[in-house]
Amino acid sequence: MQIVKSVAAMQSLAKKWQRAGIKIGFVPTMGYLHEGHLSLVREARRRIGKNGKVVVSIYVNPTQFAPTEDLSKYPRDLKRDLKLLRELKVDVVFAPTDKEMYPDKSEKFSTYVVEEKLSRAMEGVSRPTHFRGVTTVVAKLFNIVQPDIAVFGQKDFQQATIIKRMVADLNFPVKIIVAPTVREHDGLAMSSRNKYLKGDLRRQATVLWCAIQIARDTVKKSKTYPAAKLKAAIKKLIECEPDAKLDYVEFFELEALSPVSIVKSGMQMALAVFIGKTRLIDNAQL
Ligand code: AMP
Repeated sequence: MQIVKSVAAMQSLAKKWQRAGIKIGFVPTMGYLHEGHLSLVREARRRIGKNGKVVVSIYVNPTQFAPTEDLSKYPRDLKRDLKLLRELKVDVVFAPTDKEMYPDKSEKFSTYVVEEKLSRAMEGVSRPTHFRGVTTVVAKLFNIVQPDIAVFGQKDFQQATIIKRMVADLNFPVKIIVAPTVREHDGLAMSSRNKYLKGDLRRQATVLWCAIQIARDTVKKSKTYPAAKLKAAIKKLIECEPDAKLDYVEFFELEALSPVSIVKSGMQMALAVFIGKTRLIDNAQL
């Protein structure tokens, strides 16, 4: 497994593969890998085949964090990540520095990629500059790695939907694949941020999965159900936990991300919840 740190080296490797007719599968991550990330890597290998190349990027992208967020304390463990990726027979890990990605940020970096519709809802309300950072870094990574396919997680379904829109709107020659959310045994969606959940907070975090189950049961029993009433019931359930606070819960049609007032089975649900200081997100089809 090759570890590439410079943009120029990664681009020339990608160009060399392209000239040889070798397909590239790409999984962008912020590292501190868990089974969710690894499932995306396996999916990339499955899709690209044994003759293709699998590239995983590990980069904690500063432009997608607001100044109040956890950029400096975001968990990192490059050594462990590399060991896990080596076991999966990844071909290249692209792990650039901030200087490589955003040289002299204030002076030499002034171009951003902004999706203007889908990024306004849900996560975009709570984190107004987040998706601008995500689309910008993913566009940069696509230009650097030049993948044929890229795999994203359903865990961040809004991000995946926005990336698909960016790729369509800006004609990136890459196919986006969205892989299912991997969960712990008690239903908690795997996340690098779960590391912050110490003591009883870890137990309380299962309330997101409980909320999803309750919404599923409700629409199964009632066929249709008012979104406002279901949102109120979920808020009450979540805030029974001493350290849990609902940020938002939304019901919507999957591709358009448009909120609905009547919830039916087959629709999508998404929620964000603070467990103590840790903000967790989850989503599922009802
Ligand atoms: P991150 O390192 O959090 O930026 O995530 C990198 C990629 O892994 C994104 O496409 C995420 O949606 C995906 N991902 C994160 N957690 C999970 C999970 N539990 N199951 C599946 N994919 C995930």
